[in-house]
Amino acid sequence: MKDSTWLEQQLNEFNAVITNSHLVLTSGKHSDGYINLRVLAGHVDVLYEIGEMIAAAIDERENEIENDISDGDYEKNIVIVGPETLGRTLAEFTAVAGGFTSFAWCDMKKDSEGNDIAEWNPKLNFAEMIDGARCYIVDDLLTTAKSVKLAKQLIEATGGKVEGVVVVVRRSQEVTAEAADVPWLYALLDVDGFNTWAANENEPCVLCQALVPMKLRPGHGHEWVKGHPDYPTTS
Ligand SMILES: [Zn+2]
Repeated sequence: MKDSTWLEQQLNEFNAVITNSHLVLTSGKHSDGYINLRVLAGHVDVLYEIGEMIAAAIDERENEIENDISDGDYEKNIVIVGPETLGRTLAEFTAVAGGFTSFAWCDMKKDSEGNDIAEWNPKLNFAEMIDGARCYIVDDLLTTAKSVKLAKQLIEATGGKVEGVVVVVRRSQEVTAEAADVPWLYALLDVDGFNTWAANENEPCVLCQALVPMKLRPGHGHEWVKGHPDYPTTS
């Protein structure tokens, strides 16, 4: 079984950690650093090892709570659920590497009023699988736990129960299980030390003030510049 030291080495080899930059996070905040786990997409060996690590963490948790599982409303097998984009891949590798019988994924979208929501793909029959199942949410990166909360709402609205969350990297140790509103939360690796600004009147972005060029991708700089067309950018 690989450990967090191995994971850190992989992130360095894949250049997944960007520092001394200027980017927009999914939350809309600006930051000088970014963890881009999507560079791992398509790499079977490393994803399989990560899937094994996630599955081991879930197995350990299941052993801990074994005596508490007497809830007859949730008798189905465990389902590993991953929000798009990389969470979906991780759910699949976790299920295969850990020998779980089921996995599912949800799309992250905006509803007609522009609110972020999680949704089962209407072409797939995950709702039937989730109804009455105990679920673990897996995702690549935990920053504000927004995706996790949306996935949890969807699972619960579908009749499933969320037992916990496993993420590959947590960007802030302030995001605890309590903060994410789940019974249990585990990060394979904690990476912090980045500076982050709300980038509003109350908390202006120091990098914007210094006109540090905005990185378009990864992150949401490519969207931010639409509202700031004269700001310098970098690819
Ligand atoms: Zn900025």
